[in-house]
Amino acid sequence: MKPTNQKRLFIPRLYCNVFGHEYQVSKNVTYHVKEYTCKHCKHEATTNSNGYLTELTPKFREINRILERIHTKRTMRLRHESFSNSDLKITA
Ligand SMILES: [Zn+2]
Repeated sequence: MKPTNQKRLFIPRLYCNVFGHEYQVSKNVTYHVKEYTCKHCKHEATTNSNGYLTELTPKFREINRILERIHTKRTMRLRHESFSNSDLKITA
């Protein structure tokens, strides 16, 4: 018999089976897409393209990394543009 600490994981899982997962935001990917982790069993979920929660599979994780990169680039560019707009050069 294997000595396991799976027993410790079993109880939160059971709790979640009965009461449902209690997700907390673990990562903001974009304004609309977030990743969540269950407080009790550490189950991970994400927002899919329909805006519903779905299991965070490796595929979704990969998509989220790409979305995040695009999002970061876009917000950085916006920040840069607004900065250079307010930073008008005075040529006298
Ligand atoms: Zn859970």
